[in-house]
Amino acid sequence: MSQVFNIEKLVRENVRKMKPYASARDEYHSDGSEMVFLDANENPFDNGLNRYPDPQQWKVKKSLASIKDVSENQILLGNGSDEVLDLLFRAFCEPGQDNVITLPPTYGMYQVLANINAVENREVLLRKDTLEPDVEGILKAADEQTKLLFFCSPNNPTGNRFSDETIRQLLGAFNGLVVIDEAYIDFSKKDSWLRELGNYPNLVITQTFSKAYGLAGLRLGICYASRDIIAVLNKIKPPYNINALTQRRVVEALADTGSVEREIETIVSERTRLIPLLAEIPFVSDIYDSDANFVLLRVDDANMRYTQMLERGFVLRNRSTQPLCNNTLRITIGTPEENQKLLNALKSLR
Ligand SMILES: *Cc1c(COP(=O)(O)O)cnc(C)c1O
Repeated sequence: MSQVFNIEKLVRENVRKMKPYASARDEYHSDGSEMVFLDANENPFDNGLNRYPDPQQWKVKKSLASIKDVSENQILLGNGSDEVLDLLFRAFCEPGQDNVITLPPTYGMYQVLANINAVENREVLLRKDTLEPDVEGILKAADEQTKLLFFCSPNNPTGNRFSDETIRQLLGAFNGLVVIDEAYIDFSKKDSWLRELGNYPNLVITQTFSKAYGLAGLRLGICYASRDIIAVLNKIKPPYNINALTQRRVVEALADTGSVEREIETIVSERTRLIPLLAEIPFVSDIYDSDANFVLLRVDDANMRYTQMLERGFVLRNRSTQPLCNNTLRITIGTPEENQKLLNALKSLR
């Protein structure tokens, strides 16, 4: 890094100066003794949900911290990772002034969040031949005003994981925060970047319960970063952003990770089984190798194939409008039965 990393310099001035909202549950910390709570204007009659939830979700963080081998103070939870990503924009990017770098083709929410927050998005395409980030292009696009660099790895929609060397190079050379979106990490052959958290003060990792954990309906996303970065995000997050039902349900889920692991194994082995079979289909010209729970196919005519599959009852994702993705369809790995039906339907197309 060209200069010593300084989080204070990166934070928006209004955020650095502000005092966070102190909720009733922030002000009084229970030591476990029986108390009469008359501080938050709640309805006193117990129905299981009449009390505000823990604003810091300590029970959830405690089990996550022990599973992931990080400190509880290195975790922030959001209403989906979409909220986590939005908090990063709001904490670090001055509207109309700062910019971020994204690497298309990639997850569409980065652009949407940039638009919402009036922050310029500098797009540096992945390299056409390898689908790896273009390190030189990224460093050329970056300036003093570049606060965030988004790596989606494994990448949506291409499915590939970026090389460790590429990411390491940018963690060292880029002066803003490097955000690695690991929504699909559980389907990857290689480890998460989590174990590197202590080595890079500018590393931010996001994960989610929406994919491998099978809890997309719950809306729970995770941000891992240094204590200093987490403290900044904590200042601006809505006080009760994770509801009580979600907190309870996810603590249960984390107590039984065995069933999730079995599901991941099935999905990954189905992916391995499916790829060569999809390659045999006459109108499929290209299949991208995948570290995720989906595969991206190049076909002869994506619009036509998409519609034909709809008529047969299958909803696929047409990614053709994305750069480098003309005539591509993204297909999520389903159950073994669903995948067999998918193959039969694709083979029947004329
Ligand atoms: C699906 C997905 C997410 C998940 O977002 P949630 O808000 O946690 O459901 C995040 N990033 C990428 C790249 C995704 O594809």
